[in-house]
Amino acid sequence: MCGIVGIFGHADAARLAATGLFALQHRGQESAGVVAADGSELRRRGAMGLVADVFSCGVEDLSGPAAIGHVRYSTAGDSNPVNAQPFLMRHHRGPIAVAHNGNLVDAVLTRTELEDDGAIFQTTTDTEVLLHLVARSKAADVVDAIVESLQRVRGAFSVLFLVPGRLVAVRDPLGFRPLWLGRLHNAHVLASESCALDLLGAEAVRELAPGEVVVVDVAGTHSFFPFGEADPAPCAFEYVYFSRPDSVVFGRSVQAVRVRLGAELFREHPAEADLVVPVPDSGMYAAMGYARAAGLPFELGLVRNHYVGRTFIQPSQSTRSAGVRIKLNPIRELIAGRRVTLIDDSIVRGTTSRQIVRLVRDAGAKQVHLRISCPPTVGPCYYGIDTPVRDELIASRQSVDEIRRYVGADSLGYLSLEGLLRALDPPAERVCTACWTDEHPVTLPRDQAAQLRLFDKARR
Ligand code: AMP
Repeated sequence: MCGIVGIFGHADAARLAATGLFALQHRGQESAGVVAADGSELRRRGAMGLVADVFSCGVEDLSGPAAIGHVRYSTAGDSNPVNAQPFLMRHHRGPIAVAHNGNLVDAVLTRTELEDDGAIFQTTTDTEVLLHLVARSKAADVVDAIVESLQRVRGAFSVLFLVPGRLVAVRDPLGFRPLWLGRLHNAHVLASESCALDLLGAEAVRELAPGEVVVVDVAGTHSFFPFGEADPAPCAFEYVYFSRPDSVVFGRSVQAVRVRLGAELFREHPAEADLVVPVPDSGMYAAMGYARAAGLPFELGLVRNHYVGRTFIQPSQSTRSAGVRIKLNPIRELIAGRRVTLIDDSIVRGTTSRQIVRLVRDAGAKQVHLRISCPPTVGPCYYGIDTPVRDELIASRQSVDEIRRYVGADSLGYLSLEGLLRALDPPAERVCTACWTDEHPVTLPRDQAAQLRLFDKARR
């Protein structure tokens, strides 16, 4: 995944960028960084860790009126300091920095071609490919070179480039990942989600359209569409899980969509139960919608420790498993002797769900009815969600009843794809549903093995 933020035209650009990253921390907890532009100089701070740690000593070293920032959740390339974004490099046109959310599906192929031609890569990410393509472009102007390089790659990119005097924001033609444009007095702000604009006190101007390039400079913003016709496919999983509920993404309130997902889930899979309990935080709003539709009490029967991050987001399986117990504790008084409908957003590997069902049973629940506010996850994601390997997806190998037995629930119900689409209001012409249908709007190149290894590296 990853979160990105950009500021142009504010004396405190780096501080604002770092602040904006706090609101995007849920999109990536492995590393954080900011690059600021001061005249012809670009300076960078980036390190492993949370935003609060990386910027604990302030940003005094990052002066200048423009900055971009990034939080990383590795989905292509290893989780290590060298891969912390934004990247800052120098090429024949001067310094250039980049912050990228999404995955390029043909990065390995392009990288191999570049390496065969003598390129030396410093990181193991897909994003660095873009900088090499920009450097090699014959275009005189750096913005033309950026556009040319993006025309050569395929996949998901909401991306910010910073060069002296200009900030360039781009959403890929299918618009997989969100990207907002906002305004703070005379400054322009870009951010993955609107909750970051809220935090900065910026006015939300609009979301970039799929395929749109916005160039920001002292004259203002200038927008164009260089990618030709495409049928957009914004990621529906942003609604189910990834985005923050207080954001608006792809024109809809995430919170409102989640509540409707819960209501649809109840219509499809009612359960004989005494109460509805969300798995915090991901199941919260769907559980509210479910409980309201069911006329059942909504109880916060699982308490989440907020000092541990998203368990899934930690790249290795062993840290993920330990994480569940550290993160959640049941309230016996609410649960014991009762029939509990437990609501979560998704089951990927099943590891977390199995532990949570056990927790609730150990707290004395008479029955546990697990309800999931999206369809079974059967297809890998190549566009920046950390589920690139089909075999790891429990629903790609097991039936719903087998999964029910594995997680130890009395009943299990997943929302149907139709139910999910019904919850989108206004209705969507098309969204990416590859994780539930295994139909991919952008396919991998024919030689997939190397590309899949790059995705896989992110998860060690
Ligand atoms: P598990 O039961 O181990 O498959 O974990 C599923 C939980 O992980 C879900 O309830 C989500 O809250 C969370 N989750 C699902 N997909 C992702 C993802 N791609 N990245 C991070 N967390 C996820």
